[in-house]
Amino acid sequence: MRVNVSSHDLKVLDHKHHLHPFTDHGALGVDERRVIAKADGVWLWDSDGNRILDGMAGLWCVNAGHGRQEIVEAVRAQMSELSYYNTFFKTSHPPVIELSEMLAGLTPDHINMVMYGSSGSDANDTILRLVRTYWALQGQPDKKVVISRKNAYHGSTMAGASLGGMGPMHSQGGLPIPGIHHIDQPYWFGEGMMTDMNEDEFGLWAARELERAIEEIGEENVAAFIAEPIQGAGGVIVPPSTYWPEVKRILESRNILFIADEVICGFGRTGEWFGSGYYDLKPDLMTIAKGLTSGYLPLGGVLVSDEIAEVLHRENVEFFHGYTYASHPACCAAAIANLTILKREGLVERVRDQIGPYFQKQWKALESHPMVGQARMVGLFGALELVPDENDLKKRFANEGKVGTITRDHSFSNGLVMRAVRDSMIISPPLSISEEEVDLLIASTRKTLDDAW
Ligand code: PLP
Repeated sequence: MRVNVSSHDLKVLDHKHHLHPFTDHGALGVDERRVIAKADGVWLWDSDGNRILDGMAGLWCVNAGHGRQEIVEAVRAQMSELSYYNTFFKTSHPPVIELSEMLAGLTPDHINMVMYGSSGSDANDTILRLVRTYWALQGQPDKKVVISRKNAYHGSTMAGASLGGMGPMHSQGGLPIPGIHHIDQPYWFGEGMMTDMNEDEFGLWAARELERAIEEIGEENVAAFIAEPIQGAGGVIVPPSTYWPEVKRILESRNILFIADEVICGFGRTGEWFGSGYYDLKPDLMTIAKGLTSGYLPLGGVLVSDEIAEVLHRENVEFFHGYTYASHPACCAAAIANLTILKREGLVERVRDQIGPYFQKQWKALESHPMVGQARMVGLFGALELVPDENDLKKRFANEGKVGTITRDHSFSNGLVMRAVRDSMIISPPLSISEEEVDLLIASTRKTLDDAW
């Protein structure tokens, strides 16, 4: 990295040569961009020397916190021992074996095998092919349809974005691909509240959308249901308490697979190792990425149940699928070091028992601000619903998303990264955040809300 380039010149070069993901480039001026130059713990420093609290753990991924030299050292050591090899064609290598054993020790008892990729998106591509292949191998090739939910996020590849339920993504590139069916989401504040149902009734109704969809499509044609235990990019949508038990009942009575997309919820975000554990669900497959390495290097994967693994282990069965960088040794080494830190420091239990409840209490208290219609949080995973009138929670801002964007920009200026999803503010900090840092985060949030109000 060149060290003698001024902050302004870096921004000019970024403007000139870099196409950013999910960005309206026409609206992004040279000086509006932030160049993040350094990070440690929950803190970021930009190229202008500002210190900013990383309230999003990067992109919901830096669970162990930034600057962990233990992970850096593990990657360095692995790179000098074996910087690349793959696990195609009968080969394997020590870090992937060690990591797979570690993961099997963290997952529910009936899940013991993992197939790797490099991201959450490609893991969901793998899943789509895998569930269809599984049913074909079981003699039911018509079981192909995957049921997902509107406003879900499952990645940006053709399969990932198709499985996801984001309208703007579907409007580009000819999506969704065939064989994906989207049902309503259990979003109480955004949708349920506008109906004549109470929250519990709405949760049951949304769950039963799954049953209705299975009936409509025909169980013999449905391969699986995919869902994030809590929808992250959709706006940290914590379902009503009636939702998951009812979905569980439906899944138990139907011969379809359940895929838990744990890309955000996994590795401690909810205060359990997996979001499906938080809701006592029994997935057949789990998508993992992000917190698996705390984002230090790219690694994703699909965890599969013994039942599915058994079918794939039959004689003369080959799943024609794999990526060059899947199970990259350096990425596996990063994951092992990261999981070792999460375990040794008890970071997951800390979210459940200590820092989570500490944060949740202060977050909830933000509801006293006139701009906050609801403050919700599970583990260290929260959202603030911004409203124009605290006395009428069904009212929304005109020009949806504008207030959220303005609030997000104020937040950055106040030294805190929060994300805006429509007109809600999202928080998902590193699990290592201290009480003192939570206090600072809450103070920045209050100031941000005052500035935006
Ligand atoms: N699934 C979920 C639930 C996600 O939140 C994301 C990314 O945010 C993905 C999949 C895609 O992961 P990636 O960006 O690593 O491809």
